[in-house]
Amino acid sequence: MTTYKAGRHFLQIPGPSNVPDRILHAIGHPTIDHRGPEFREISKEVLLGLKRIFKTSGPVVIFPTSGTGAWEASLINTLNPGDKVLMFETGHFATLWHSMAKKFGLEVDFVPTNWRHGVDPQIVEDKLREDNDHQIKSVNVVHNETSTGVTSRIAEIRNAIDRANHPALFMVDTISSLGSVDYRHKEWQVDVTVGCSQKGLMMPPGLGFNAISEKALAASKANSFKRHFWDWQDMLKANDNFFYPSTPCTNLLFGLREAINMLEEEGLDQVFSRHDRFAEATRRAVRTWGLEILCENLSEYSSVLTAIMMPDGKSADAFRKVVLDNFDMSLGNGLGKVADRVFRIGHLGDLNDLSLIGTLAGVEMSLELGDISHTRGGVAAAMDYLASTKK
Ligand SMILES: *Cc1c(COP(=O)(O)O)cnc(C)c1O
Repeated sequence: MTTYKAGRHFLQIPGPSNVPDRILHAIGHPTIDHRGPEFREISKEVLLGLKRIFKTSGPVVIFPTSGTGAWEASLINTLNPGDKVLMFETGHFATLWHSMAKKFGLEVDFVPTNWRHGVDPQIVEDKLREDNDHQIKSVNVVHNETSTGVTSRIAEIRNAIDRANHPALFMVDTISSLGSVDYRHKEWQVDVTVGCSQKGLMMPPGLGFNAISEKALAASKANSFKRHFWDWQDMLKANDNFFYPSTPCTNLLFGLREAINMLEEEGLDQVFSRHDRFAEATRRAVRTWGLEILCENLSEYSSVLTAIMMPDGKSADAFRKVVLDNFDMSLGNGLGKVADRVFRIGHLGDLNDLSLIGTLAGVEMSLELGDISHTRGGVAAAMDYLASTKK
């Protein structure tokens, strides 16, 4: 039997993130005819609004899927079996995208990292320069590696591709960065940007996105992977009139329209600086506690989440259990190589100063309860920072 827990559960994992009431209410609209005029208006607002969120003038398609489906669509719409692809092992999500590419018969050059750094633009340039006969067909990068709290520098990687004067497609996973961290599909000449609903967009899971460049569209008309559900052409043809080839997630699209409205009411730049501020406050707390941040490169700190290493011999999962049992707060677990070694604080989406301070207070009290040796005062350091940036 479950008993009522007073107050709101703190969902501080780095996605799915907290869904604000405005979005929940929007989703609670009666389902309408997805081939009728009312739907068409909503669909139009959403498809045009998403372009502003991705910062593109080209098409953005929406699939009923988690991020994984949107990854799949990016690969099979643009590449051919046996194509060479350059990928980087920045963490768990990059590793999953890599395994998917291998299953599709792509030949992946998977550049290792120690999971504490992002993609090194110099390596991108070197690898592409070595590839004189242009065998590499795409460079695939995870923008914000949600398993490590490391954000790769997409603009610099774009410049590296240009310096090598290489024609490879550039694909970027923005699944956990979109709507939280600055991102510019068009300006950075990204060919396919992969996104989904349940992280920076403050939505429940269920929608996956591909923003598509002209170059990627041309590749999709010539490539040979068999596909039906994930086919861009069918989708784009229906989207021309703001409809879909099969039944869309009508109610989630009501929610997405509200999410776009909310992000634009606050202003994207303000949304990004709010995330930067929360991330800095969190790092100040972590340093005060005497714990170590997994990300080693200051210019790659994630504003979406902070992954924190446990002191030697201490289980991150046991610690997370202390947090959940005592304070009804969920923190992110360590994934893959860093399982049980790190815990992750999500500070993305629908979050304000006091929800962040509540989150950090839950961590600090649990360090005490869990007998994790630390220095008190992390929350105070975060409060000082948040207050000083209000002045
Ligand atoms: C969450 C996430 C994914 C996986 O998305 P699903 O919705 O779980 O399929 C992929 N990449 C990144 C960077 C993510 O954060």
